[in-house]
Amino acid sequence: MLPTPIEKFNSILAAICPQFARIMNRAVFLDRDGTLIVEKNYLHRPEEVELFPGAGAALKKLSDAGFKLLIVTNQSGIGRGYFTLTDAERVNERVSHDFARDGVRFEKTYIAPEAPDQPSRVRKPSPQFLFDARDEFNLNLAESFMVGDKLIDLECGWNAGVKQSILVRTGYGTGVERDDAEQIKRAVVVNGLIEMAEWILSHEIKA
Ligand SMILES: [Mg+2]
Repeated sequence: MLPTPIEKFNSILAAICPQFARIMNRAVFLDRDGTLIVEKNYLHRPEEVELFPGAGAALKKLSDAGFKLLIVTNQSGIGRGYFTLTDAERVNERVSHDFARDGVRFEKTYIAPEAPDQPSRVRKPSPQFLFDARDEFNLNLAESFMVGDKLIDLECGWNAGVKQSILVRTGYGTGVERDDAEQIKRAVVVNGLIEMAEWILSHEIKA
């Protein structure tokens, strides 16, 4: 495939300035339920979408700093027959719409529809969606982050080789922090998206 004008521009800049090559196309991958929005058991109604307070402003700061934002969500309710892919897509549209009020845009939302006992290439903790995103958006995973409220989110990030997996204490996060203390030693733990954005911005590479 031919490079897009932006990719051409980036590769020229990267050749001139290696520091730019390191920081370009960084991403923050975000789990949906319990991370971006309030966890509601098998959420499938758009009207029940509820953003965490300050979530939009926090993500806007990351986006302003040049991070691409992508959602990676397991929706086993589809595989279990509780709701359809279309239901899940409508919820995702509402999430995107609500964040857009704060000027936040997600590059893409990836959905794994399988139940845990169904074969899947993409269901977290598989890193496959992060690899797909790397290829589609020319991302540097080693300078990117994965954020979620479950151990499988953190593992997904580690499996993909991201710079850091970050656990939020929203959703199932506090339970994970309590029950899986040994496994999450490698992770950063924060209260929520506001603290997550602050952590990333205070640890990013300065150009
Ligand atoms: Mg979650």
